[in-house]
Amino acid sequence: MEWDALRAEQPVVTQLLQHAVWRERLPHAYTFEGEDRGELIGAATLLCRAFMCSSKEPKDKPCNQCSECKRVLSGNHPDVTFIQPDGLSIKKGQVELLQKEFAFKGMESVKKAYIIEEADKMTDSAANSLLTSLEEPGGETLAILTTGNLHFLLPTIVSRSQVLSFTPLSESKRQERLQEQGETLELAAIKARVGDKPTEIPAEERKTWIVQGRQVVIQLAEEVFKRPPQAKLLLQEKWHTHFKDRGSIDIGLDLFLYWYRDVLYTKWGREDLAYPDQLERLKAEAFNRSEYMLAANMKAVMEAKKYLAANVNPQLLMERLLLRLQEGS
Ligand SMILES: [Zn+2]
Repeated sequence: MEWDALRAEQPVVTQLLQHAVWRERLPHAYTFEGEDRGELIGAATLLCRAFMCSSKEPKDKPCNQCSECKRVLSGNHPDVTFIQPDGLSIKKGQVELLQKEFAFKGMESVKKAYIIEEADKMTDSAANSLLTSLEEPGGETLAILTTGNLHFLLPTIVSRSQVLSFTPLSESKRQERLQEQGETLELAAIKARVGDKPTEIPAEERKTWIVQGRQVVIQLAEEVFKRPPQAKLLLQEKWHTHFKDRGSIDIGLDLFLYWYRDVLYTKWGREDLAYPDQLERLKAEAFNRSEYMLAANMKAVMEAKKYLAANVNPQLLMERLLLRLQEGS
């Protein structure tokens, strides 16, 4: 990853980092917090290169040609250490080994850097060991901690580093990533938006389950409008048998929410849809419904989600929702 690529995703973070490198005012420790691990590591190694590079021109840009840059890129720079969880946690021994190596090399003039991936997985004793290094960083040292869960890090660690929060990926970007990983457009579009909430559905069945659930929602949304009695039947026969536990029902309601948002988006001519393969249906619904009705539909679904969280009986909650969706109020 280079600055331009990082800037496209994380303009604020990039600005801060480049500025600090340019002015040679890097703090001793950073904590990078964000949801995309690959992005955090990419940014951390980029910063390491910018820090270690011996021939930066301009000042904030790693040359990628010098031996410092090359060795950081290939992952075997003797003064750049990566620490990753060993199994489920980062252990005290791993931190101590790093400290010993640094103490052994010792020379004040040598730049040293280390990256701790998933720093929230440090055991308490590992974190306490690290604390001494953060309190008394020897020479020119740069520490970069990355984490997806800032609140799992010891507050004493957080307070001794400069925290940079990476913004979450946009829906479209997340969809793009999923498609790159081989998901179909249909599945990637919905997964990127609904996310991975906990349900009782076993992991290996989730793919089929969400594809089928999506069909149930599309059908139900259509019948609610065209043939209300049919919708009630569908609710009994398909919805309740598919969305059983609260986690699944919540996803089902999200699927509804995105359906109505898609209808609204179609009205506005937007193309970032959760149901990109349903354009004809969406257009037909967009034609039949006013923006006011669609806003009311979305509000009804949002309220159903609230009732669900408040433990209202799912049967009752869904019947109420269907009535409101029919009325469009
Ligand atoms: Zn270089």
